[in-house]
Amino acid sequence: MRDDLVIDIGDLVGHLGASRKFNGARQAKLRLGDAKVNGDVGVSGTVTGTVDGVQVEFEAAAPVDLVCVRCLTSWRDEMTVEGSQHFGKVADEDGYAISDNAVDVGSPAIDELALALPAAPICQSDCKGLCPACGTDLNSAPCDGHGDDSDSPFAALKDLFDS
Ligand SMILES: [Zn+2]
Ligand SMILES: [Zn+2]
Repeated sequence: MRDDLVIDIGDLVGHLGASRKFNGARQAKLRLGDAKVNGDVGVSGTVTGTVDGVQVEFEAAAPVDLVCVRCLTSWRDEMTVEGSQHFGKVADEDGYAISDNAVDVGSPAIDELALALPAAPICQSDCKGLCPACGTDLNSAPCDGHGDDSDSPFAALKDLFDS
């Protein structure tokens, strides 16, 4: 993968403090349950020379499509994460290394974004969710109740307390 997030760093390695800014984008498809990214991830930051490699500080931003786990409303949010990654001549435990006098700053940034996807998105902290009996969105309309709904899963429980 050779795009504007693969940065030539041959002149930075061993030059402590010498740095270069970068700004680019890469297509990504990420998914965690009902949280999805499908499009351009913008990545910007700075590459700085160290004794044996380069240190990358990055920020990644992308639109993320979410579905509320309580009321099933879907919406789009902008997500931003920050992180850093050191690249040396030998691959680290995540497999990141200098290759061909260049580093791929897009991969750790997109990995960081994937880790930050919410496992259980909620549209608002006090989302009331859906009525389990009739499916009414309790955020927009109160449920009238299900007094004579004898096949509701709660009917048996109610009988128990009424007797
Ligand atoms: Zn909700
Ligand atoms: Zn209801």
